[in-house]
Amino acid sequence: MCKELFIDLKAYRQMERQVKRAYPYEACGVMLGHENRVSDVYILENVEDKIIRHAYFSADPLAILKAEKEAKERGLSVTGFYHSHPDRAAGPSEKDREYMIPGMQYVILSVNENGVAGIKGYSKPDTEDVIETVDIEMTVHR
Ligand SMILES: [Zn+2]
Repeated sequence: MCKELFIDLKAYRQMERQVKRAYPYEACGVMLGHENRVSDVYILENVEDKIIRHAYFSADPLAILKAEKEAKERGLSVTGFYHSHPDRAAGPSEKDREYMIPGMQYVILSVNENGVAGIKGYSKPDTEDVIETVDIEMTVHR
């Protein structure tokens, strides 16, 4: 089974800008939209300890609640989360897999000094403990 994920170009550009700016540290954020369509992002600050921030991220739970509130006010939902892997492939780490919530979409952007090198999507089905890759399509929404 291969699920598709649609990311509005405007939202993708925001992610791209953020992960490039955060390099060589990981960056993270919330995806807002409906089901498998991401129409906006809510940028989170990586509050992980600076010594390991190049390989890990964590966000303030209050900031995530704020993202949910903002989504609601705008008639959107929190559809998932994205983060970057500086100088690493866009595959999920053990920790990434562990923290995935069924029903949410996860996007990992591989980033290096030249910019975004790859983008992949994942989700954890409700019934199985398998991570499935999703096809990501950038869409221009007017
Ligand atoms: Zn990761």
